Amino acid sequence: MKKIIIAIDGFSSCGKSTMAKDLAREIGYIYIDSGAMYRAVTLYALENGMFEADHIDTERLKKQIGQIKISFKLNPDTGRPDTYLNGTNVEDKIRTMEVSSHVSPIAALDFVREAMVAQQQEMGKEKGIVMDGRDIGTTVFPDAELKVFVTASPEIRAQRRYEELKAKGQAASYEEILENVKQRDYIDQNREVSPLRKADDALLLDNSHLSIEQQKAWLMQQYERVVGLL
Ligand code: C5P
Repeated sequence: MKKIIIAIDGFSSCGKSTMAKDLAREIGYIYIDSGAMYRAVTLYALENGMFEADHIDTERLKKQIGQIKISFKLNPDTGRPDTYLNGTNVEDKIRTMEVSSHVSPIAALDFVREAMVAQQQEMGKEKGIVMDGRDIGTTVFPDAELKVFVTASPEIRAQRRYEELKAKGQAASYEEILENVKQRDYIDQNREVSPLRKADDALLLDNSHLSIEQQKAWLMQQYERVVGLL
């Protein structure tokens, strides 16, 4: 069967990656979490002392961006891909509140986006890929055969993120998470380079009141419809 590119964009913490991962596994496609790549660059900047309060040493990061290699490897225990930064597994480290609260300004830097978009396009060369993020259907793969734009209310998204962190044993307050969700929405939608917006040809999915099973079934239907048309 002909392979396609599936682009899933939307706001933070709205369950994009859950639906993207599940679909990829079911149809035998590669799943790429592009947000994890921006998170890994952020971790790199934090670990190398490139943040001073909220100021980023962009000159130093720009010089080193070519040395930041991000890859994904399937974790046999979870059945899902883990994120590697220059060969080291950073899957847990990139999901902390510290990284979440520093990632949007890093993702707004033009040279960071250029480097990540190039790596993402390379990963999708053979098609057969499900990629989620903010600009996949608009910038990374504007010709993707299936594009979805996912949204849900900020309160529902904060609650989901809160439960996710709690389940991992990471302390976090709901208010702090809600603030972070709103702040990231604002920065992601208002940045100059590749702002978060729905591609004109993307299908809109508001999953505020959908269960994971319902949204999974909806996505599978869309995939089957598009592939059936080829
Ligand atoms: O998807 P996730 O919330 O893990 O992404 C982390 C951050 O990375 C987002 O808040 C956004 O600032 C940035 N991002 C981006 N473009 C993408 C994916 C993520 O700017 N394609």
